[in-house]
Amino acid sequence: MNVFSDPMQRLNPGVQSFLKQPMRLLIDGQFVDACDGREFETYDPATNSLIARVAEAGVADIEAAVAAANRALVGPWAKMPPAAREAVIHRLADLLEKYADDIAQLESLDSGKPAAQIRAVDLELAIGALRYNAGWPSKLHGQTIPVNAPDMHVYTRREPIGVVAAIVPWNFPLCQACFKLAPALAAGCTVVLKPAEQTPLSALLLGKLAMEAGLPPGVLNVVPGFGKVAGQALVEHPGVSKIAFTGSEAVGKHIVRTAASDLKHVSMELGGKNPNVIFADADLDVAAATAAMAIFFYSGQVCAAGSRLMVERKVYEQVLDIVVAETRKLKLGHGLAADTALGPLISADQFARVSGFVERAKAEGVECVIGGQKPGGDLANGHFLEPTILVNASDSREVVVEEIFGPVLVMQPFDTIEELTARANNTGYGLSAGVWTKDVSKAHKVAAALQAGTVWINTYGQFDSAAPWGGYKQSGFGRDNGEEGIEKFLQTKTVWTHCS
Ligand code: NAP
Ligand code: MG
Repeated sequence: MNVFSDPMQRLNPGVQSFLKQPMRLLIDGQFVDACDGREFETYDPATNSLIARVAEAGVADIEAAVAAANRALVGPWAKMPPAAREAVIHRLADLLEKYADDIAQLESLDSGKPAAQIRAVDLELAIGALRYNAGWPSKLHGQTIPVNAPDMHVYTRREPIGVVAAIVPWNFPLCQACFKLAPALAAGCTVVLKPAEQTPLSALLLGKLAMEAGLPPGVLNVVPGFGKVAGQALVEHPGVSKIAFTGSEAVGKHIVRTAASDLKHVSMELGGKNPNVIFADADLDVAAATAAMAIFFYSGQVCAAGSRLMVERKVYEQVLDIVVAETRKLKLGHGLAADTALGPLISADQFARVSGFVERAKAEGVECVIGGQKPGGDLANGHFLEPTILVNASDSREVVVEEIFGPVLVMQPFDTIEELTARANNTGYGLSAGVWTKDVSKAHKVAAALQAGTVWINTYGQFDSAAPWGGYKQSGFGRDNGEEGIEKFLQTKTVWTHCS
């Protein structure tokens, strides 16, 4: 049967029965309706059909969630010994492993991304984040400090920063939630998680599994709803100590301004316009094929997408031909179909935004080599956009400097390293970059010169829970993953004792 005619029939029985339950907020260990009974709808972006109605957190629900998180912070979570905290985080990872296929299907239906890719990428990263951070509680400790004053014993304690508001976007819903949740829990914090309005379902399933894993009530609260209401209430709430945010530059800046009023701690994982650079001496077949996936994976809805491909002029046409040939192979389809390479964009708004970039570029004389159209047939009701390659765009064009967050690649030639680095850095963003060359010296020289939080050499899009991830410039501050990932959920207390 064609998956488009009834995608829900493709779901495993476990996912079908999960979706038959009411989608309620998780507050203080209980699944509850919103105080005012409000609900919102979540859709399958491949068909534009309703998946479920979900309880919508309002200000009163945020009040209850933050209160529960504060009680848990000084209650059962604080009292749990490190080994027990480690065990419960590992149990949550065990459950994600056990139900990985179901979670991937649920996330696919809600986000449009191919289920097989979610299983291979998002689930592995989410489980990896839980496993990596589960190792920390028994290894977090202060120091004794040799001070100059006589008869003083001085030591430090590493204490949790408090209640964390984790606010995440729709492109990696479960994965981003775990990138925040895992280090926060390991640090001894408690969490109120607000998923994006477009993709609330995997966060609710994560909450259910966290309860099954034995996380005490109130340690993780899940409050689907809208950014302007639930998100804003979290950012303004005096009972929240830290905001761990991944999302757009505009909302990030708004949150920083709001959080300044009571000096909340904030960390920001924002957007990117990431140069992927191919030198003439690279393995061109591998570099060009990877460049196609670097932009088109998840239909370009990836902060790390290699959206600006810069190629040394003498191999530019050759690389263009390979990238176009690779792009032609990518099959658009429903995320639940096994042969789908690219799913839809997340929403009609996102489709309008992305295709608007393409249309304006074309009107300004930028050439569209392939794609740029909305496909018909089975795909007509979804928010699909063909993978698109633009060429002949000068550096000042918006498609060269702005984050499009869709399947749109801009290709440009360059001549020298100095010219390349200056042009690649001439953007407000600084999230990531790729460099392809067999010359080791050149690779490291360019990696050092690029203003980006991550540089991949002869590879692209690698992530690991041990490797810090975050931006330079307006791509944000603070790092997810690695040791820096947990540091931001800790604060240091210095204790002085007079030993007379
Ligand atoms: P967004 O609009 O900034 O939304 C992100 C989250 O913020 C959502 O949960 C949203 O809620 C919430 N929000 C909106 N207004 C808020 C407010 N006033 N107060 C508190 N929370 C508020 O971003 P998006 O469009 O969903 O996601 C795409 C962006 O995320 C892109 O720019 C992308 O580059 C970036 N991103 C960055 C990374 C990274 O690691 N650097 C990773 C993934 C994505 P609602 O959606 O429910 O309204
Ligand atoms: Mg949805």
